[in-house]
Amino acid sequence: MPQSPSPTPVTLGAAADPLRLLQDIWGYPGFRGQQQAVIDHLVGGGDALVLMPTGGGKSLCFQIPALLRPGLAVVVSPLIALMQDQVAALRELGLRAALLNSTLDAASARQVQEQARRGELDLLYMAPERLLAESGMRLLEQCRLALFAIDEAHCVSQWGHDFRPEYGQLEILRERWPQVPRVALTATADIPTRDEIVQRLLDPGARSFVSSFDRPNIRYRVVEKRDGRAQLLQFIRDEHPSDCGVVYALSRNSVEEVAAMLAAHGLKALPYHAGLPADLRQRHLRRFLDEDAVVMVATIAFGMGIDKPDVRFVAHLDMPRSIEGYFQETGRAGRDGLPAQAWMAYGLADVVQQRRLIELGEADEAHKRLSSSKLDAMLALAEAADCRRVRLLAYFGEQSAPCGNCDNCLQPPQWVDATQQAQKLLSTVYRCRQASSSSFAAAHIIDVLRGRDTDKVRRFGHHRLSTFGIGADCSEQDWRLLLRQLVAQHLVEVDHLHFNVLRLTEASREVLRGTRRIGLRKAAPKAARARRGHAPAAAAAPGAQPELGAHDAALFEALRGWRSAIAREHGVPAYVVFPDATLRAIALARPRDLQQLRGISGVGDSKRDRYGEALLRLVGEQG
Ligand code: ADP
Ligand code: ZN
Repeated sequence: MPQSPSPTPVTLGAAADPLRLLQDIWGYPGFRGQQQAVIDHLVGGGDALVLMPTGGGKSLCFQIPALLRPGLAVVVSPLIALMQDQVAALRELGLRAALLNSTLDAASARQVQEQARRGELDLLYMAPERLLAESGMRLLEQCRLALFAIDEAHCVSQWGHDFRPEYGQLEILRERWPQVPRVALTATADIPTRDEIVQRLLDPGARSFVSSFDRPNIRYRVVEKRDGRAQLLQFIRDEHPSDCGVVYALSRNSVEEVAAMLAAHGLKALPYHAGLPADLRQRHLRRFLDEDAVVMVATIAFGMGIDKPDVRFVAHLDMPRSIEGYFQETGRAGRDGLPAQAWMAYGLADVVQQRRLIELGEADEAHKRLSSSKLDAMLALAEAADCRRVRLLAYFGEQSAPCGNCDNCLQPPQWVDATQQAQKLLSTVYRCRQASSSSFAAAHIIDVLRGRDTDKVRRFGHHRLSTFGIGADCSEQDWRLLLRQLVAQHLVEVDHLHFNVLRLTEASREVLRGTRRIGLRKAAPKAARARRGHAPAAAAAPGAQPELGAHDAALFEALRGWRSAIAREHGVPAYVVFPDATLRAIALARPRDLQQLRGISGVGDSKRDRYGEALLRLVGEQG
């Protein structure tokens, strides 16, 4: 990627303080959450662990100290796309930032190293392997260092879901440069992972800054999976026809099929998985970052460290195997704080498949138990009839009240007593086994319940069982729904080694004896399909924005068109020039001069100087 042309570097006055920098350079009126506290602590030379949800504003926590402390701030980041975009964004702001990673040719790398040695850079982004190499260490020895920022710090944890061995070696920073402050940042870490980050990367006395994990602008939704792909298509068409989004699927095959299916229906959908050639993957990534309305269909490997702020939805066609994974993947939606959706289709096959992956996996027993309990927590979230956000946050140790912005809050499902049906199902499993000395899979059990006269029923004589036909009043779909909940709660087991036959468990007896009652979640009757932004609830939802009228919308589109042209010219993603939120604010406020323009959040001095005239001209033309 070409580096964006460097504007006149910002010169810091002697009186520079964090708030002034935020306002002058970034054009934001004030700090969010704990940003100021983190910045003060780092400027004062302390170590810090920063936990903030995606989109919370972690970058400013080290970017501003990098400007205020003398010397070079080194930022360690695992993903190349993220680095490129952050550096491009900093240069758009007029800051002295550069990167060193495998994408640079030798001459450019030498030039960056020279600049670093001469003290001409404030921020240097480095891939961990680049930093750990002998040449990287030598370079740092020759520079005056302001601080180390270690992004995606949870990658240091061997137990985590993103372990990267190079991250473990970053311990050396503390040994070699004990006097240089370090900040470790992440959006996802349970308590043991937090401890591990501090222990490996930071001073034992490091301060922790833990923000709420809540992402109020994300609406969580889980739908009954019937035909997942058709449901996905409908969801995108109805609610996000011209938005960027990410669709996650478990296998490479289904990634390619789903992308092809969406593309065949006229959507700009692209596949992304580790089996595609590297250059194709890179091309798809650039299109996703740079263009509007691209839907990326990907395996979960995609997305970490991708900074795109205007992803309007994340859709899961397969259930993630833990709440951490779900939270991280859905967290890639709505980093800009505008309304976004996390949508998941979930069915019996998901439960069965995830259990099978764990049981047949190669991990040792202790690890399998841990994976199972993580999966159970995820299943409980998917099956929940109460507020999903309350459960999600509780998993990370936070208490909260029902949110009003998840499916269960917006359309509370009915909760019906299904104990009798569960008894019918379990006793059918029991009787089939007793009569035939073998176990049977779900399809056959449901046939017996519904009294269907199939070859298999005849062959085993199951039409003579007392439970034959006792469930004829319920549809096959209803029985599968009940079965899914029983499997999720370990009241029935699916034997993956033997044709997925169903078996009773210890706990099944409690249901059969009537000492344990079973509730069944029944989806609320389908309300009139709500378009995003038009649904009554959406207007009240946190992060909701006023709808633009036709006149303002026309200006907004004109501004987006102008932004695309600038982004192409500079070889940077559109949002690096201006985020949607800033363009919306301009369309609404219609500034008449540079001073009014400068008052809009996201327009700092450098962007006013570079783009102000062009923006005012556009506003004038559309007046
Ligand atoms: P994170 O790395 O925590 O996911 P970022 O640092 O990328 O989040 O910030 C997310 C978005 O919020 C960016 O567009 C950033 O410019 C914006 N932002 C951060 N801090 C503020 C602030 N104090 N006021 C307004 N916008 C902010
Ligand atoms: Zn809720």
